Amino acid sequence: MLNAMSSLPFWEGHIVDAVQEQEDGSLLIVLDTCPASDAVCGACRQPCALIHERRRHKVRDRDVLDRRVWLDVPVRRLDCHHCNARVAEHIVWLDRRARITHRVRLWVEALAQLLPIAHIARLTGLHWHTIKDIDHRRLKHLHGDFSAQGVRRLVMDEFALHKGHRYATVALDAEQMRVLWVGEGNSREAIRPFFEMLGEEGCRRIEAVAMDMNTAMDLEVRQQCPNAEVV
Ligand SMILES: [Zn+2]
Repeated sequence: MLNAMSSLPFWEGHIVDAVQEQEDGSLLIVLDTCPASDAVCGACRQPCALIHERRRHKVRDRDVLDRRVWLDVPVRRLDCHHCNARVAEHIVWLDRRARITHRVRLWVEALAQLLPIAHIARLTGLHWHTIKDIDHRRLKHLHGDFSAQGVRRLVMDEFALHKGHRYATVALDAEQMRVLWVGEGNSREAIRPFFEMLGEEGCRRIEAVAMDMNTAMDLEVRQQCPNAEVV
C-alpha cells in the first residue's frame, strides 16, 4: 500500500514516507523530500544546494474519503548562493508559512461561492476566520482594492439582522450596481465610517443619493455630501 502511495502525484517534489492514523481519526501523511528534486530558493526561484537547516511543518490538505488529512512536510531552509537570501525553499503546492495547501485553498474558494462561511467551517473543519481570509483575498484578487473613483450616485438602505432586533446599512454604487460598504447599525454614527472611507473629495463628487427618508441617515448624508440631491 505504502509503496503504491509513495509516488502519488499530489505533492510535487515529495514522496510519502508513512501514513499514520491519529487519535481523532484523521490521517497524518508524513512526506519526505523526493531524492531526485533539487531545492528551489523561495526568493529567487533558482535551484540551490546549500541547505542551512531542515524543519517540518504540519499543514492541512483535502480530505480523503471520510478522513481529515494532515501532512507532515519537510521544509529545507537554504543559504542561496544566487541571491544571498537565507530563506525556506519554494514548494509549488504550499505557500510559505501557510497552514493549508493550495488544494485546500482552492476548495474553500469554490465553496465560498456557494455557501455561507459558517457552513464551510462545519464542512471543512477550518476556522471561520481562515475561510473569511481566503474569501477576502479571492475577492480582492478578482476586484482589486476598494476605490471610490467615479462613484457619483449612491443607493443606501437599511436591513434587519437577527429577526429585526438589529439593523445594518448597505451602500451601493447606483451606476455600476456594486456594493461599496456594509456596516452594522443604521444611526448617523454607524454610517459615518462609509463617508470617511469615501473621503472628503469622494463625498463632494456624490451627485445623488437614493434612500429611505424615514431614517436619521438622510441628515448624515446631507451633511457629508453637500452636492448630493437626496431622493
Ligand atoms: Zn535565491
